[in-house]
Amino acid sequence: MVKNMLTGLQAAVLGGDARQLEIIRKLTELDAKIYLAGFDQLEQSFTGAVKETLEDVPFEQLDAIILPVAGLQATGEIETIFSDKNLRLTEDMLKRTPPNCKIFTGISPALLSNLAEKAGRQLIKLFDRDDVAIYNSIPTAEGTVMMAIQHTDITIHGSEVVVLGMGRVGISVARIFKSLGAEVKLGARRSEHLARAIEMGLTPFQIGRLENEVKTADIIINTIPHQVVTASAIASMQAHALIIDLASKPGGTDFRFAEKRGIKAILALGLPGLVAPKTAGQILAKVLVDLLKEDA
Ligand code: NAP
Repeated sequence: MVKNMLTGLQAAVLGGDARQLEIIRKLTELDAKIYLAGFDQLEQSFTGAVKETLEDVPFEQLDAIILPVAGLQATGEIETIFSDKNLRLTEDMLKRTPPNCKIFTGISPALLSNLAEKAGRQLIKLFDRDDVAIYNSIPTAEGTVMMAIQHTDITIHGSEVVVLGMGRVGISVARIFKSLGAEVKLGARRSEHLARAIEMGLTPFQIGRLENEVKTADIIINTIPHQVVTASAIASMQAHALIIDLASKPGGTDFRFAEKRGIKAILALGLPGLVAPKTAGQILAKVLVDLLKEDA
């Protein structure tokens, strides 16, 4: 039976940003005992949460470790905006946890996956989940509207917007621009995606025809994590066209050629955390709590 509270559960929140505050708030409200490392500059306090140095976290007692959404940095450090101190998660720390202790992250760079594997602990990537991706697409789409407003001198209403990709983000982005009165074209490769685009009142096209379809576009928004906005597509764009690339690093745009041609192209990553950290934190907190309750 799924419990209502998390009484008795012990978790460590190691570093992070404003999103972690929502997670800490939610977990402490549900009576979990929380250890915070990397929060020494945080003035706010939470009943049921204690600040520790990373070395003093009682790893032996933990049911869960909650890392920042990016997992670990390339240097192996845990990023935190609430401390100047370096936080380095070690294999030994993970090995000290009980075998059923779970490690939660947004995404997992290879370094983190290797560490968890070597320690034999389960790593849960929240951003791999469909529900999280769909919820997150809402602040992502709103952030994209913000970028479009900031970087153009025309209204979205009446502008021609090309959205590439019909996944979780592409659908939300296309819908929001359409609802603001843009003429939205949708580029995808699967016939069912093109059919869905028609149902949504968009103008679909095969992604292979991108070069022809961007000629009159004002804004091109890419959500496909492959190089699709090629030099030849960029060469056919109008000089004032704006490319907003949402796809994870390195994006799907030939940025070098865009710069050479004088077309503004922005790799706009991490929009949920930027435009709506509270909502983005609540999204993660909700899913995290559901998962922890299943285990409790
Ligand atoms: P998704 O649901 O997997 O959608 C990806 C889309 O790309 C699908 O429509 C897929 O179509 C298409 N695609 C993949 N490879 C393709 C190719 N070679 N040619 C044509 N189409 C291709 O992913 P998502 O959740 O929408 O996320 C999209 C990207 O945005 C990811 O990189 C994600 O990390 C990123 N993201 C960024 C932000 C931000 O703030 N910038 C926020 C959230 C997510 P098929 O079904 O045909 O493969």
